[in-house]
Amino acid sequence: MKRSLLFLLLLSFAAQAQHKMQWPKHQKALIVLTYDDALESQLNNAIPQLEAAGLKATFFLTGDINSVTIPRWRKAAKKGFELGNHTIFHPCGVVDDNPVSSASYTVHGILGEIEDMNHFLYAVDGKFYRTYAYPCTETTVGNGKDYVDSLKLSNLIKYARVGGDTDAVVTDFKHLDPLLVPSYGLEGNNTGEQLIAFVKNTVRKGGMGIFMFHGIGGDYITVSAEAHRQLVSYLKQHKKEIWVATFQEAMDYIEQQNKLNR
Ligand SMILES: [Zn+2]
Repeated sequence: MKRSLLFLLLLSFAAQAQHKMQWPKHQKALIVLTYDDALESQLNNAIPQLEAAGLKATFFLTGDINSVTIPRWRKAAKKGFELGNHTIFHPCGVVDDNPVSSASYTVHGILGEIEDMNHFLYAVDGKFYRTYAYPCTETTVGNGKDYVDSLKLSNLIKYARVGGDTDAVVTDFKHLDPLLVPSYGLEGNNTGEQLIAFVKNTVRKGGMGIFMFHGIGGDYITVSAEAHRQLVSYLKQHKKEIWVATFQEAMDYIEQQNKLNR
């Protein structure tokens, strides 16, 4: 009896080990850096730091780009940074700091706007394939109409990011919905140590940890340029064990691994 129990335990350990994600080059974890709202402090502070460290990241842009910033985003895309879709007007249920309310939106309306933003982004970087971040991390418009399934059916977007907090480390990749990928939404004023603690937690769990940034050393929900620099240099120092990828690269890899393990 005892022996068979031990056998069952061993079997379940073996099954768990098989389901653990194997990262490229025997790395221990995956970190994805994402930045929302097309903020100039990202162009001025985040991108130069990332470039100097040789790291890639994803920038979820809105229609809030212009003749001055479009060439700069285009240049970033040429260097390998991903430009993602964050709608044109950033409609939100909570409208304190957000000028456009999502209350009057239909599902058809938000999908049309996402499609237009895809075209807009095509004009910036010439790419067809887009990832998405829900404005204000809300998956509903028009006072509670969920549009995740419609977005999936539309094929406009393959992967989409939602919110979360410090425990938003993905480890169960089999049950990960590619249109509801959680992330650690920073509240602003986070220290370098707090940012690095999330990376360490991700490494401990062998999973994927996604950061959601806004302002870097400026704008709003701001993380200081110094705290960001500390995170970037930690990631650079630990390149051998931590894979830093764009959201699209990360999700393409996970989908491919899931197919192989099916
Ligand atoms: Zn946003």
